[in-house]
Amino acid sequence: MKFCSLSSSSYANCVVVQDENTCILIDCGLRKRDIKPFLDSVGLTPGDIDAVLITHSHNDHVYGLKHLLAEKNMPVYSTGGIFKELTSTYTFKKTPNLYALNQEQEERINSMRVTPFRLSHDVETIGFMIGSGSRKLGFLTDTGFVPEDCLEALHSVNYLYIEANHDFEMYKYSAKPYYVKKRNLGPQGHLSNDQCGQALKAMGLKKCELVVLAHLSEDDNEPNKALETVRGYLPRQINLVAAPARTPGGWSDLIGK
Ligand SMILES: [Zn+2]
Ligand SMILES: [Zn+2]
Repeated sequence: MKFCSLSSSSYANCVVVQDENTCILIDCGLRKRDIKPFLDSVGLTPGDIDAVLITHSHNDHVYGLKHLLAEKNMPVYSTGGIFKELTSTYTFKKTPNLYALNQEQEERINSMRVTPFRLSHDVETIGFMIGSGSRKLGFLTDTGFVPEDCLEALHSVNYLYIEANHDFEMYKYSAKPYYVKKRNLGPQGHLSNDQCGQALKAMGLKKCELVVLAHLSEDDNEPNKALETVRGYLPRQINLVAAPARTPGGWSDLIGK
């Protein structure tokens, strides 16, 4: 199993996860004009995608879904609550094929096993544990904190894609309005670099080879700052990179090689 971020920021979020038999996208916040070129840059077309998983209904995660489904009406997996928010905000050309997941219940998508878990954001939001053979990827972005049961569940992952949204010191001097700051720093907002590092430490990662820092704020964080802060909490042998904000990153199997 390997994965690759196509975009990771408040501008747009979209990640490809692939094994020998299955190719899924997690979220599709891409602009219409970016979908085909970004997929093409990692050797894929919309026709190659077997399914889409949706974490929540915020624009930066679902904006491009209607455009992607217009290319190929592939199955979409999320919870009933998230689908309700999605279909009340967006109109789709064809009726989307929605498959409701239940919290903490494993679902098979071809050769992959997908288990959603609840996160803490200002709309219903889920993270995922994705399994393929004996390999596991933990995926969590858009959460004010990492719930206790997630910390436990994620300790055995091989790869982790986790939010490091802002640097707390930079955020204090941010020009953002007070209500936005209050929301983003609160328990239903986003993880800071330190919160991300503390969560990784608390997970007690035993088998993890690679951590990808995701959803970095373009105004209130810097990749070097995020990497340096999180590295302070993480054993040296684990590869650590930050996903680029608006362009595709590298495939996970090539990182550190
Ligand atoms: Zn987001
Ligand atoms: Zn969000």
